[in-house]
Amino acid sequence: MIQERVETYDIEQRNTAKINLMARWQEKWTNGTYGRWTWRLIPNIQRWIQRPYGEVDYFLTQALSGHGCFRKYLHDRQKTDSEACIYCRAIDDVEHTLFACPRWEEVRNNLAAETGSSFNDTNMMENLTTSEETWKIAYKATVNESCSSARYQTAESPTLA
Ligand SMILES: [Zn+2]
Repeated sequence: MIQERVETYDIEQRNTAKINLMARWQEKWTNGTYGRWTWRLIPNIQRWIQRPYGEVDYFLTQALSGHGCFRKYLHDRQKTDSEACIYCRAIDDVEHTLFACPRWEEVRNNLAAETGSSFNDTNMMENLTTSEETWKIAYKATVNESCSSARYQTAESPTLA
């Protein structure tokens, strides 16, 4: 009897500690100054970490962090001589690649048709966490098409070497 009360108390304490920790983590994430692009895409930590599917690989990390194959990012690090998009000549940052570049408009439109909503920064998390099916569609639109190694296969593409 005493043992049961101790165990129950421990479980309640642990759950309360977990909830408090998550709330503090969320507050720091919401009010932080670093990783604001990632925060725009993934504002809700709990929902993100509790999704039961969806591996974050090298390419998705680039999209979620904004650090990677984007010409502005590479130009800022002297890895390429121009920050212009190789497809439309606008400044090529992650936001441009994912949500604005005309090169990927058809991909975004297909995603919108499949999910019933547009593909933008405010619903990226919704697309990635609603179901495994929407994760696959959003992943395909984000990674397989616009952030994949295909970007490196043109003669004008930069190298990370
Ligand atoms: Zn472009």
